[in-house]
Amino acid sequence: MNVHEYQAKEILARFGVPVPEGAVAETPEQIREIAEKLGGPVMVKAQVHAGGRGKGGGIKFCKDVGEAVDKGSKILGMTLVTPQTGAAGRLVRKVYVTKALDIGHEYYLSVLIDRANAKITIMASFEGGVEIEKVAAETPEKILRETVEPSAGYLPYVGRKIGFGLGFDAKQVKAFTKMLGGMIRCFEECDASLVEINPLVTTPEGEIVALDAKVNLDDSALFRHKDLAELRDIHEEEPLEVEASSFDLNYIKLDGSVGCMVNGAGLAMSTMDIIDLAGSRPANFLDVGGGANKESVTNAFRILLSDPDVKAVLVNIFGGIVRCDRVAEGIIAAAKEVKIEVPLVVRLQGTNAGIAREMLEASGLSLIVAEKLDEAARKVVDAVKGGGK
Ligand code: GDP
Ligand code: MG
Repeated sequence: MNVHEYQAKEILARFGVPVPEGAVAETPEQIREIAEKLGGPVMVKAQVHAGGRGKGGGIKFCKDVGEAVDKGSKILGMTLVTPQTGAAGRLVRKVYVTKALDIGHEYYLSVLIDRANAKITIMASFEGGVEIEKVAAETPEKILRETVEPSAGYLPYVGRKIGFGLGFDAKQVKAFTKMLGGMIRCFEECDASLVEINPLVTTPEGEIVALDAKVNLDDSALFRHKDLAELRDIHEEEPLEVEASSFDLNYIKLDGSVGCMVNGAGLAMSTMDIIDLAGSRPANFLDVGGGANKESVTNAFRILLSDPDVKAVLVNIFGGIVRCDRVAEGIIAAAKEVKIEVPLVVRLQGTNAGIAREMLEASGLSLIVAEKLDEAARKVVDAVKGGGK
């Protein structure tokens, strides 16, 4: 789960990470109140779950209260398009009003899990403020990496090593080492998968401050953090993914044209691979889980089909615990309830697969039955390329 910048900074501040003073606003009046309280120049920052807001016009420097209200009112309600939002952009519902800082230099700093070595990894760079992916691709030597040994935990020498590596002086290194310790404690105690500060800045006075913050929380651990779970902002999530999760279905939006209904994440992966091999790409996948029944299959179809990118649907379900005839029953009932206007290819394998195939064929529905996985993929890709029924 992602949280907004203002929430990420509130969390980080609890762990002693210095952040600029500020508050969140939803109306021009609130912007005025906050700007008056802060005094002096402020930044007005669009709060959406996407980076690159500066480039999209979602971050403005305002020299006084009047300008903050003026520029802030334009950001509130705007559809912000950044390199991370896609062309559709994101509606801005809140802005963060913070004290504007004078910046000496912008650095990059993050704490994340390195899955390859199964350890917490710290990444830092003198080249901050810009897309770190670009730095990593073009000048990987400019990224410093250190791991936190699980048996030892965070040791201050790691902070000193990075601090000196970034070019800080002795006094700054001391502050940095403490701050990094706070970031790592935050990472561990919140069960985060990423804590990123980009940019981390130095002020002309030499102070180190987190100017932007991103915290990614591990969904599977949210049950341990009721307070953090409340920070969820469903406006920022794919509406169909939110709807699917309310039915306990796992739905993931992708960018191709084949809608996939599967059971189990492993089968989802192989289904997507084989669609790719057959020459098309998945528009999404929806994992109906272990209990594929009429209700879940009906909801699944409704969600899959409300995605306009779907030009054909492939149902690929393995009847292990769930019996194929029960799934076929679900598909037939669902197809009567939900109007399916795109070609539908169904492959059911496992317990009672034969009975299921007979049921589908006798149903009078215009669906395409497949037995083998490659055959199913070929048929659905042909259907996409043929277009319509
Ligand atoms: P992002 O574009 O979504 O990553 O948003 P950031 O919060 O990182 O802001 C983008 C850029 O705006 C930063 O890299 C800074 O250059 C600039 N910026 C943000 N806050 C301030 C501030 O308080 N003072 C100054 N001078 N620039 C700022
Ligand atoms: Mg940033």
